[in-house]
Amino acid sequence: MSKFAEPMARLIDELKKLPGVGSKSAQRYAFHILRASDEDAALLADAIREIKQALRLCSVCNNITDVDPCVYCSSPTRNQRVVCVVEEPTNIAALEKGHNYSGGYHVLHGTLSPIHGIGPEHLRIANLVARVEQHAVDEVILATNPTVEGEATAVYLARLLKSSGVRLTRIATGIPAGSDIEYADEVTLQRAMEGRREM
Ligand SMILES: [Zn+2]
Repeated sequence: MSKFAEPMARLIDELKKLPGVGSKSAQRYAFHILRASDEDAALLADAIREIKQALRLCSVCNNITDVDPCVYCSSPTRNQRVVCVVEEPTNIAALEKGHNYSGGYHVLHGTLSPIHGIGPEHLRIANLVARVEQHAVDEVILATNPTVEGEATAVYLARLLKSSGVRLTRIATGIPAGSDIEYADEVTLQRAMEGRREM
């Protein structure tokens, strides 16, 4: 039997599902929420509910958005003929921090990982292929992370898109191997973008 009342145990169990949250942290958060005002607790619950109801994926690039197409795909000042392929929506925010890229994006929502049973069918690739086949794109920048999975994904996409004749480039590894784009500083990211190569 749990040492906490049922509603408390339930909240702790849900919080434990968050990344990086163990039993101790989950208990701390749960007691914090219990002690918070009704209003603050309701604001947290509403924010969680709204993120699921108001946000969806952009039909063009798969970025998380509340408007479709997203702000990047509908921007008249961005070069929509260049598409930067990233693993996760959070990678877009990292690339935007550098202020030196003004093309479009494509979010895969993951990488190929045979060990974890993740194949091409689990990634969002179809609408990228469609954009390229409709000749709406001049260059595809493969900006997956310089990890084993990220490299494998870039190689797979390069092979898949090669016959279309689109220019395929890979960002340079100004970013340390085995790390994540999200944690790279602006200068490193800028070098990586400038040093991208043909695939
Ligand atoms: Zn979009």
